[in-house]
Amino acid sequence: MADVSAECNIKVLCRFRPLNQSEIIRGDKFIPSFQADDTVSIAGKSYVFDRVFPTNTTQEQVYNTCAKQIVKDVLGGYNGTIFAYGQTSSGKTHTMEGKLHDPHGMGIIPRIAEDIFNHIFAMDENLEFHIKVSYFEIYMDKIRDLLDVTKTNLAVHEDKHRVPYVKGCTERFVSCPEEVMDVIDEGKANRHVAVTNMNEHSSRSHSIFLINIKQEHVETEQKLCGKLYLVDLAGSEKVSKTGAEGAVLEEAKNINKSLSSLGNVISALAEGNKTHVPYRDSKMTRILQDSLGGNCRTTMFICCSPSSYNDQETKSTLMFGQRAK
Ligand code: ADP
Ligand code: MG
Repeated sequence: MADVSAECNIKVLCRFRPLNQSEIIRGDKFIPSFQADDTVSIAGKSYVFDRVFPTNTTQEQVYNTCAKQIVKDVLGGYNGTIFAYGQTSSGKTHTMEGKLHDPHGMGIIPRIAEDIFNHIFAMDENLEFHIKVSYFEIYMDKIRDLLDVTKTNLAVHEDKHRVPYVKGCTERFVSCPEEVMDVIDEGKANRHVAVTNMNEHSSRSHSIFLINIKQEHVETEQKLCGKLYLVDLAGSEKVSKTGAEGAVLEEAKNINKSLSSLGNVISALAEGNKTHVPYRDSKMTRILQDSLGGNCRTTMFICCSPSSYNDQETKSTLMFGQRAK
């Protein structure tokens, strides 16, 4: 059994991407300054996190510093969640997925897939592993299965232990990293087919990849379960109050509500508030309920643009991250 006395464990990590070509051409300024490995300053104000990754940080460094341990913990029977939060184009998908089939460019999810199986191959032969993955998104408060396009509005239910789960969501058993990658490719392809503008869509929906690990000792029949949610959140940018109307405004309100309820849950957990954590305020926080806070491993990536053009969004992103500290 996992050590139930372990502390509530929330880590907040901040990552800045480099200036991109169009920002450089426009003459944007590079605004962050990186003083220590846990501090970033913008316009004279410092923000402290568990770790700050400057623009030149590699995917491998990010993985080794913060996700590697979570894989060990999940194999040890803990649940966990890794999020990426930030405005559109700040590097969330780069951090979570990266270039899926490039050894240097791979982000956290493909590295986790490899790492899980490396650990398993090195473990006790008497342990039998059952690993299954699901892939879904939440758009306008509806849960859509990315592995079965016919399932467009799945419900959150509770199992007999009162653990919330997405009822009817496709689960795929996987037995090697390549199979995990195939599932991701399949889900991404389905997501593309379902929408006309993928960039817009991904900035307005949360995508969630779930890895479920069960292990059983063949002789003692002792069992251990852990699961890990990997969440690429919708863009956190504010929609201008005057410009947006109709469907766009509804989308924006919806995203705002789900991101702020996530912020409320994380800050309640960070304050050690055990009696009232408002999990029920959004579908996402309900789903993540048993994988956030408490005895779980929670890591939040705060993804930021370094450009002067985005300074207001960057400040509000950094403030969001500070709430969890
Ligand atoms: P988001 O998912 O937050 O909208 P992306 O991850 O798609 O943003 O990043 C936007 C662009 O910036 C992509 O082309 C991506 O490859 C690039 N990018 C993001 N973060 C980095 C980084 N740390 N280093 C290099 N390029 C990056
Ligand atoms: Mg993205």
